[in-house]
Amino acid sequence: MPELPEVETTRRGLAPHLIGRRIEAVVLRRPDLRWPIPPDVAQCLPGQRITAIRRRAKYLLLDTAAGSALLHLGMSGSLRVLPGDTPVGVHDHVDMALSRTPGEPARVLRFNDPRRFGCLLWQAPGDTHPLLRDLGPEPLPDAGGGSSGTTFAATVFSGDYLFARSRGRSAPVKSFLMDQRIVVGVGNIYVAEALFAAGISPLRPAGRVSRERYGRLAAEIVRILTDAIARGGTTLRDFISPDGAPGYFEQELAAYGRGGEPCPRCGRALKQAAIGQRATVWCGHCQR
Ligand SMILES: [Zn+2]
Repeated sequence: MPELPEVETTRRGLAPHLIGRRIEAVVLRRPDLRWPIPPDVAQCLPGQRITAIRRRAKYLLLDTAAGSALLHLGMSGSLRVLPGDTPVGVHDHVDMALSRTPGEPARVLRFNDPRRFGCLLWQAPGDTHPLLRDLGPEPLPDAGGGSSGTTFAATVFSGDYLFARSRGRSAPVKSFLMDQRIVVGVGNIYVAEALFAAGISPLRPAGRVSRERYGRLAAEIVRILTDAIARGGTTLRDFISPDGAPGYFEQELAAYGRGGEPCPRCGRALKQAAIGQRATVWCGHCQR
């Protein structure tokens, strides 16, 4: 499943191919993905110039003067810029034909999503889509499109912020961090890695983690996500290749998916349990 680093890598990979281009045509090969595709997409987008591609949590926004296409990759989605004559596959649900300068080959932005948990929705100018309204701050300082100059969340993510929001909460710190109203985009993989790196047990009540330890945890979240995005940079060439694998990337993980294996720090077997119905791995010795 694409996590925040894959979505941010997608955004960065697509930006140079999209910004400044006009959308000449929109082809919808089905009326819905996870949700119906609103008519505004096909009515408003053709003829519009893409002014920015932004990310909010795991959503991408293609901005035009007429409004923004709001995309989510769901479980299995990918967005690629391809030569215009690339054969259409069975799961290629949406094409946006891009303008070109004379002599350039035709290109199309194609949305492929075998499992169709992704979405393509519409956000009118000046509006905030309901899906984006109650989201917490971005964990990365440059999230949300950087050069577009638009900041999404006024609240700054930090250890002090996590400490303040967690007071009085008895839910496990892992569940607290995965709540999108607290902070966005820290999925199951990254929360496991950050808690391991910070030495905090995922089972510890969120309200019983000290300010100092939240400071360490916030720093580890930023470091781990930043590293993952940097590693994702090597897959950027795939975004214009018609037959490469999608841009998801393998990573070296210390805890996630390694239940029962030796802890990389102390050698004891890593524990595994379900928290909030999600697999959770941690070291009972190194994480308290
Ligand atoms: Zn350990």
